[in-house]
Amino acid sequence: MMVTGDISMVRSHRWLNPGLEWGLVPTMGYLHEGHLSLVRSARSQNERVAVSIFVNPTQFMPGEDLKTYPTNMQRDLELLKHENADLIFMPENAVMYPAGFQTAISVDDVSQPLEGSSRPTHFRGVATVVAKLLNIVEPTRIYFGQKDAQQTIVIKRMVEDLNFNCEIIICPIVRESDGLAMSSRNIRLFKDQRRAATSLYKALSAASKLFRNGQYDASILRKLMIYTISQEPLAKIDYVSVADPLSLEELVFINDGALFSVAVFFGDVRLIDNMLVRPQFNESD
Ligand code: AMP
Repeated sequence: MMVTGDISMVRSHRWLNPGLEWGLVPTMGYLHEGHLSLVRSARSQNERVAVSIFVNPTQFMPGEDLKTYPTNMQRDLELLKHENADLIFMPENAVMYPAGFQTAISVDDVSQPLEGSSRPTHFRGVATVVAKLLNIVEPTRIYFGQKDAQQTIVIKRMVEDLNFNCEIIICPIVRESDGLAMSSRNIRLFKDQRRAATSLYKALSAASKLFRNGQYDASILRKLMIYTISQEPLAKIDYVSVADPLSLEELVFINDGALFSVAVFFGDVRLIDNMLVRPQFNESD
C-alpha cells in the first residue's frame, strides 16, 4: 500500500499500469464501517483502489467543527491496509490549496436546499475538492455513501455537466445496531446525546412506515418526523424534509419516490440521515 501526500507521486503510481481500472473512495478519515463498505465495493469492482483522506477546509463554514473534526491517521492506515487498498492519498492543505488558489465549482440548483440552506458554501467546497481528486487520481469509478444523499446528487450533476470520465457508485447507509447511521462525528456525542441520536432513524422509519401504509401527504409525513424527534429534549432540529429524490424540491404529495431527510443538532454535533422511499417499493436506505 502506497501512502503519499504528493500529487505527482499519485499520478506516477496511477500511470505505472495505464490499462488498469481504479476505484477512488474520497473520505475525511476517522474511518468506520460506512467508509470501509465503500472501500470493499471499490475493491470488488476495480483492479486498484485509491482512498483519499483529507479534511477539506473549504467545505466547512466558519464556526463549524473543522478544528474538532476527529482524526486517527494511524488507525485509518491500518484499517485500509487490512482492506487491501493500493494507494492512500493524504495531502496537506497547502498541497490542495496552494498560495494563489482561486477556482471553485458551483453546482447551482441542487446545492441550494437542505444542507445548502444551512451550509451555503458547503457544496462549493465539496464539488471543488471532488473535481480536484478526480483530476489527480483519474479513477474509473468513484464511490460515495447514500448517507450524504444530497452530496451524491450534486456530484452526479457536476460529473455530467463537466464531462468527467468516471462512473459514480452510490453505496447504502451503514448503521449501528440501534439504527444510528455511522458517522465520524458520532464519537463527539456524550452518552445521553448518543442515546437521543437514535431519534433520527426512528423518525425516518416511522415516516417510511406511514408512507408504506398509504400516507402520501408530505406535510403529514414531515409532522410525524418532527414529532418523533421532538420527543428527545436533547435534539434540536435543523431541518426535516420530504423532497423529490432528483430535484430535491419539497413535495406536497408523493407521486413517485421521495427522499426523507433530517438534520439534527445534539449540542454542537450536527447529524444527518435519510431514507429513500418509493410507492410499492421501499428501500430503507
Ligand atoms: P466522510 O469521511 O464523512 O466525508 O465520508 C466519506 C464517504 O463515506 C462519503 O461518501 C460518505 O457518504 C460515506 N459515508 C459516511 N458515513 C457512511 C455510512 N454510515 N454509510 C455509508 N457511507 C457512509
